[in-house]
Amino acid sequence: MPIILFRECDDYYPDIHYNRKMNNKEMNDNYANDIKYTIDKSITTKLLHWYAHHARELPWRQDINPYHIWLSEIMLQQTRALTVIPYYERFLKRLPTIEDLANVNEDELMKLWEGLGYYRRARNLQKTAKMIVTDFDGMFPKTYDAIRKLPGIGPYTAGAISSICFNLPYPAIDGNVLRVFARFLEITESVDQVKTKQKVDNALVGVYKALLAEDSFFCKDDVAHGKSNTNQSDTNQSDQPHLCGTLTQAIMELGATVCIPNGVPMCNQCPLQDCCRAFFHDTVMQLPVRNDKKAKRDEELTVLILFREGNIAIHRRPDKGLLAGMWELPNLEGHVTERGVKIWADEHNLSPIAIATGPSHTHVFTHIRWHMQSCFVECGNLADGADSADTGSVDTDSTDSDVNIGVDRTDTSSAGDNTDDNTDTDADFIWVTPQELTETYALPTAFRKFISR
Ligand code: SF4
Repeated sequence: MPIILFRECDDYYPDIHYNRKMNNKEMNDNYANDIKYTIDKSITTKLLHWYAHHARELPWRQDINPYHIWLSEIMLQQTRALTVIPYYERFLKRLPTIEDLANVNEDELMKLWEGLGYYRRARNLQKTAKMIVTDFDGMFPKTYDAIRKLPGIGPYTAGAISSICFNLPYPAIDGNVLRVFARFLEITESVDQVKTKQKVDNALVGVYKALLAEDSFFCKDDVAHGKSNTNQSDTNQSDQPHLCGTLTQAIMELGATVCIPNGVPMCNQCPLQDCCRAFFHDTVMQLPVRNDKKAKRDEELTVLILFREGNIAIHRRPDKGLLAGMWELPNLEGHVTERGVKIWADEHNLSPIAIATGPSHTHVFTHIRWHMQSCFVECGNLADGADSADTGSVDTDSTDSDVNIGVDRTDTSSAGDNTDDNTDTDADFIWVTPQELTETYALPTAFRKFISR
């Protein structure tokens, strides 16, 4: 029967009695002594024990292969675990090794990532995979500093991989972890400040180091979660549970399932409740303190769904900027009238036969909101020299030069390497079948919504 040692919270706040609230002077004295940035190692016992019994079964917790942990952490950025699961499984089925990832062609990589957003993450994954194959003989580096230097790997991901895969004393601090400790320690400074994050990081590093130094203090049979520490394919490590990694996952799990971001945290299910300053002072809902969010920029777009003989036109975006290098539906800045679209289509030798305004929707990125209005354009067969006579409501006699057709953003200098025979050189599109669009070309969600309607 495993024995779990619990230290009482009085060890943690020896001067605080939990049957009353602190007065302002006590609060100030504590802050002055920087008690609020001290995390006692006793919380590890509570967290590890709680995690052993409450962790969700997730595919990336079946082993500690650094490729798997790295991939899952990158996919989980800005995305919920349940959404990530099918992507993670499909990705590893197609690319089971780092070498496979290094060698896959970019369009297929983007297709595997389609719908997850933040596509730069996928490109950085491949860049890093190539570097690991070239510089590390295909084996993931095993020190924090070496991991941190890899492209696309910041302190959070480096901490996660280091602690989970290699049992190194580095915490992984993201928004979830900051939220937990902002409440637990009742931090009243903004968690968006670098110095706040640094203080939490320093405090947690101390806890991790103490954990390694005193690992006999913990009963490993109990703190290890299920099968989470087996099947290590390339780490050459023993079957002993990784306490640092388990602590990292326990903190993440607490932030994801109990000390939640939206709504009321479930303090009555929290292993830290009896030591939590925010719970004690009833300030849970006021924390964490965040900086005011920068207002998003609003942009209007007219998305063109161009059909020609059963094919749809797509265009490669520029290599830099939002959705860099991704395929998109051709689009114009501003909400352009059908007549404006007609003029634009004529200028690009598309021989429009019929034009109709379609549905609209708004897509929100981190800093920008796209208000997207769609327009269906049936294009004539260029080989037959089709006329652009019947354009529905478009005034075909018009030779208006003052029609505002927005700004043509099809950038010929940004063409990808897909310049097959089906390339329309006038407008820098390629024409693909609906099946190819589904199976081969990755279209960001902002555009795919118009196709799947
Ligand atoms: S007691 Fe409540 S506020 Fe404090 S860490 Fe737990 S869930 Fe978060």
